[in-house]
Amino acid sequence: MTMIVDKLQQVRARIVTACTACGRDPASVRLLAVSKTFPAEAVREARSAGQIAFGENYVQEGVAKIEALSDLRAGLEWHCIGPLQSNKTRPVAAHFDWVHSIDRLKIAERLAEQRPPELPPLQVCLQVNVDGGANKSGVAPAEALPLARAVAALPRLRLRGLMAIPEPAPDFQAQRALFLRAAALFDELRAAGLELDTLSLGMSADLEAAIAAGSTMVRIGTAIFGAR
Ligand SMILES: *Cc1c(COP(=O)(O)O)cnc(C)c1O
Repeated sequence: MTMIVDKLQQVRARIVTACTACGRDPASVRLLAVSKTFPAEAVREARSAGQIAFGENYVQEGVAKIEALSDLRAGLEWHCIGPLQSNKTRPVAAHFDWVHSIDRLKIAERLAEQRPPELPPLQVCLQVNVDGGANKSGVAPAEALPLARAVAALPRLRLRGLMAIPEPAPDFQAQRALFLRAAALFDELRAAGLELDTLSLGMSADLEAAIAAGSTMVRIGTAIFGAR
């Protein structure tokens, strides 16, 4: 088994190669290490290899890990990337730095209300359903602009951009085309006056296509920590 530090190096190299292939600056893509299902010690190991941003899907598991690593808290950035139920917003508002999975106003309103005033604003992205799949999480593209305007107006939150998880596609071009739908929506929202800087696209299997489509943050689990 390769060590986490080696795998992190490999992922960083993939990001550089993907950026070079499409003429982008590698510094324009952040790496979010998705540590869900892996123990706090795996996060500690990745942190010692220079990784700062970590993503968790499940609120209870994420909070337990954040607390277990409280000695490192100032040097870590915790991102909640899983679907959020409204009865789980309070611990998210109290412990995380970012939420990528806002798909309705009610969730954002609760997070705004519950964000402790002594903490910096919670950084948030709207999750968009670019495939149109009826049972998938995410706001429909046509609803994204009104939701973005409403979220941007809330106190204690700072709207940073969009997140999407398109279905796996058969090849690079097809995958890139799906990511480009999220990128087009991102451009539309910016053209409408929203100050957004984050396009959260790409996972272990498709980070190259996501970067080719303009991703500014790739969320990588398996390629860093191993199979779940
Ligand atoms: C699990 C997960 C990832 C990481 O997926 P890998 O294929 O393991 O890289 C990224 N984003 C979200 C929302 C996830 O749930």
